Amino acid sequence: MQPRVRSAQLYEEAKRHIVGGVNSPSRSFKAVGGGAPVFMEKAQGAYFWDADGNRYIDYLAAFGPIITGHAHPHVTDAIVRAAQNGTLYGTATELEIVLARKLKEAIPSLDKVRFVNSGTEAVMTTIRVARAATKRTKIVKFAGCYHGHSDLVLVAAGSGPSTLGIPDSAGIPISIASEVITVPFNDTEGLKLALERWGDDVAAVLVEPIVGNFGMVMPKPGFLEDVCRMAREAGALVIYDEVITAFRFHYGTTQTFDAFPDRAAIEPDLTALGKIIGGGLPIGAYGGRRKVMEQVAPLGPAYQAGTMAGNPASVAAGIACLDVLAAPGVYAKMDAQAARLAAGLAESASRHGVPLTINRIVGAFSTHFCDHPVTNYEEAQDTDGEQFARFFREMLERGIYLAPSKYEAWFLTTAHSDEDIDATLEAAEASFKAMAK
Ligand code: PMP
Repeated sequence: MQPRVRSAQLYEEAKRHIVGGVNSPSRSFKAVGGGAPVFMEKAQGAYFWDADGNRYIDYLAAFGPIITGHAHPHVTDAIVRAAQNGTLYGTATELEIVLARKLKEAIPSLDKVRFVNSGTEAVMTTIRVARAATKRTKIVKFAGCYHGHSDLVLVAAGSGPSTLGIPDSAGIPISIASEVITVPFNDTEGLKLALERWGDDVAAVLVEPIVGNFGMVMPKPGFLEDVCRMAREAGALVIYDEVITAFRFHYGTTQTFDAFPDRAAIEPDLTALGKIIGGGLPIGAYGGRRKVMEQVAPLGPAYQAGTMAGNPASVAAGIACLDVLAAPGVYAKMDAQAARLAAGLAESASRHGVPLTINRIVGAFSTHFCDHPVTNYEEAQDTDGEQFARFFREMLERGIYLAPSKYEAWFLTTAHSDEDIDATLEAAEASFKAMAK
């Protein structure tokens, strides 16, 4: 590993022009001891190369979207073709229909969709639509679940702000925060109490059906069923934020995931999508049943628009990415590799006396430096951030790039090879050994 001289220089220069030197706080190294983040120059398949020429095996996958690995030829070709035909029309195109159809085929609760540019926009708009449909104002969300950076959902949000040690964001009026009720994830009783007290005012219960923002956390058996039933009894809609989870564990969303046999019992009214469905270009989408979606302009009174929405390059990249994911065996391979990686990490950690809890769901898992299970945000917070930071640094020096936050997951991609897993396990063994010293 070459010293990251160029990254350090670029960081100094970046700080003069870009706030904090980064264009998203989750890219800073603040939560892992600070200093210059690594400036990457190139990415191909499962690898990154930094500005000093060092190679890393990438488990960040750009916080989720890069499930086919970097610069996958099928995705790249689609983007090039789209770009050659003009990147933005501001008109309707046939490509948008193709992606919308693919989403509908994979996600049974979608009658109609609308494309936007980010997960933030998708979630933000589902809330507006739910408010329009119910003529109510409050939302219930779960502690530690991150739903983008719009005002309403940055109240007691987890991933970004808590990583930085600020519970809420400045600039959000109390009047907005007072519209949000926060309940611990996996806490049916807490949700019941919240709905008993405020249920008549609640427009929607917003949930990551499988959490991806304080580690990977499955709902306890029956929890999603309870969320859907209790929300409906209160006359509220259910919004699933599947920005991270859609197409991550299988070709579809939580509703069609094997872990949940009773699909009807967990059907959401609205779903927010992003990340993978854009194949690495900016995208978001939201959708639901026809009646609810007909609230949206130009059909209904809920306004939502976007200059860049459904642009040909993002849509083409999304279609190509889904093509790759539809091939047989794609998820089974990521599952097997992640299983081997997680088991090896657990063995290494235990050999060196480092407490480690791993939550794995198919090709994604989170590593929590603690000796208790992680089923909600409180338990995820109650883990050793300093040990994670140490592990992160040790791995980085050995050419393994993890998300710089104890809350984020490791993501496998279709590009990771068995040799990459071996190399990662070797690096982990050496890292845990160094930490034990
Ligand atoms: N919802 C979830 C569950 C997310 O994980 C994220 C991003 N990490 C968002 C919404 C926001 O998406 P974006 O960053 O594209 O605005």
